[in-house]
Order: sequence, then structure tokens, then C-alpha cells
Amino acid sequence: MSQVMTVKLKLLPTKEQSAFLKISSLIYINTVNSLVSEMIQTKELTKKTSKDIDVLLNSSVKNQVIRDAKSVFNKTKKKNYTVRHILKKPVILWNNQNFKVLDEHISVPLIIKDKSKRVSIKMIADQYELDLLNSSSKIGTLRITQKNKKWIAQIAIECSIPTQSSAKVMGVDLGIKIPAVCSTDEDEVLFAGNGKQNKYIRRRYGSCRKKLGRVKKQNAIDKMNNKEQRYMKDQDHKISRSIVAFAVSKNVGVIKLEQLINIRKQTSKSRKNNRSLSNWSFYRLAMYIEYKANLLGIKVEYVDPSYTSQSCPNCTIKNKAKDRQYKCECGYSGHRDLVGAKNIRYAPVLDGKSLTA
Ligand SMILES: [Zn+2]
Repeated sequence: MSQVMTVKLKLLPTKEQSAFLKISSLIYINTVNSLVSEMIQTKELTKKTSKDIDVLLNSSVKNQVIRDAKSVFNKTKKKNYTVRHILKKPVILWNNQNFKVLDEHISVPLIIKDKSKRVSIKMIADQYELDLLNSSSKIGTLRITQKNKKWIAQIAIECSIPTQSSAKVMGVDLGIKIPAVCSTDEDEVLFAGNGKQNKYIRRRYGSCRKKLGRVKKQNAIDKMNNKEQRYMKDQDHKISRSIVAFAVSKNVGVIKLEQLINIRKQTSKSRKNNRSLSNWSFYRLAMYIEYKANLLGIKVEYVDPSYTSQSCPNCTIKNKAKDRQYKCECGYSGHRDLVGAKNIRYAPVLDGKSLTA
């Protein structure tokens, strides 16, 4: 089985490069739109080749224009010409033979002063995104567009996914003191990101406190200091990678995570509230776990977080944990976060995957 995904990269073009991207992407959509108009008039697919199209684009990009226009036309035809799709947002595409992703640059041909030239545009990519690109079985088209005045590159890739048949379950409790505690239904345990994570924890706390109540989740992510953001992302990649690697080594087929609670609905000073302080950052960690697990054929399910930190994993009685240790009258005692992970394994799965943060 294979899955088509999109790898997103941030681009940092120079002023000059940005101007050329802007012009080329406008020419791109205008040419697609006019080709579609022609086809709608004749009600036939165009027979034009790149040679018949006289605009300032490379011939490989012109071929991509023709492909795009044909696909837009086919969609319009299917709807009996009742819906007309017009490209409005500037975009430009290259097929996989015409772009290269290098370490910190992406290289594409552009027309500059009437000549086709290879342009190397600086990019920002997570190690994870680079890993995805390297592990993909097929690389598709590159799409460059502008979002909120920033240039981004989207690369379509195909990854092969092994089919997992194991029914073994692992609960993962995301926390502040320890980033993640895992427990399989055979009681194998992993404390992920444990130990030298003080910096990570402090930042997760600090940056979220500052933002709480002032801005929405997406804004908080956007406005977070870039360096700090990259550090946190990097840590989350490492933690999620170790969790998924542990799941693979124990032949786990299903990972269960708590559904995160809406930040605005939280008022009481519970442990769960503490956690929701930085809900959006848990959201990212959860997404990374899901993303990586799915690539390896492991399913991710979200469970009801009620009582997962209070119920005794042995006798189900509810107790409040004192400090980091959880004790029950039945004789069970263990690390508080491990209790959470154990309960998450058997907590009821919620519908859909509507993670809210
Ligand atoms: Zn008990």
C-alpha cells in the first residue's frame, strides 16, 4: 500500500528571486486559465504543445501548464460546463525531472531576462521533512505558491506503507514533567524524552503561558520565536520518533493517545488543565506521532481523557495521585504518568480524529 503526501518547505528567496517567482507564477495561472477558456469554447482537449505557447516560461513548465489546463478542463466537462474553475492564486509547478532538492536549497529553472536559468532558492526544512523526501518511493510535482506573503514549496511524494495486522495496543500519556510515557498491553514501558529535557519542558511551559488567552492556537505557533520553535519541533520529532520506534520493536498495531481538550473550556486547576495550558504544543507532538506511526502502518486512536490519571490500572478505583507517585489500596503503586499510559490503553475511543487544542 502506498500513501500520497505533501512535504511543505518554507522558502527564503532573495528580493530578485521573489520578483521572478511572482511574475512566473502569474504567467502560469493566466496561461492555464486562457487554455481552459479555449478548450471550453471548442469543447475539445487542446492539441497545443509547449512550442505553441508563447509566454515567458520554460518549456518544461509550459508542459505542466498544459497538463494542469487539461485536468481543469476535464473537471469542467464532467460537470457539463456548469462550473468553471479559474485559478486565482499565483502558483507555479515543475515536474520531478526539473527541480532538485539540495541540502538547504531548492533548485528550479526560471526565465530570467529571456533566458532559462537554474535558480537556487534558500529553504527551511525540518529534518523530518528531509527524511520523508529521502524515504519516499516516488517524488511528484513541485508547487511553489505564496501564503501570507511568504513563499512555500509543496512537493507531492508517495510513500509505501507496510500493512500492520497486530492488534497489540500501546497507550501514550503526554505530559509536562515527562514528555511521553508509553505502556503496551503486555506492560512494556517507555519513558520517552525522559531525563535531560529540562530545556524542552521549561520552554513548553514558558512559551505557552505567555500566549495563553491572548491568541488562538495557530497564531501562537506562528508568532513563537523561530529559533525556539525549531528547537521544540526538533525535540518533538525526536520524541515521536522514539515512541514509534518503540512501538515497532514491540510489534504494536494501535497507538492510543488522549484527545486533547479545548483550551478555552478549561478553567479548573486540575492536572489536565495544566496540560491544556500548552495544548497546542501537545497537539503538534500528537500529530507527529500519528504521522510517523501511520507511515509504518500503525493506527492511531484518540481516547476520552476522563479519569485516565485517577483510575487504578489494577482495580479501577479512583484515587488522586500525590506527587509523582500513585498508590491504591489494592496494593498497586506506580509512577503517576505511567498510570495514565496504562489507562489510556483501555479508555474508550472517541469518534473521528477531531483533535482540538
Ligand atoms: Zn487499585
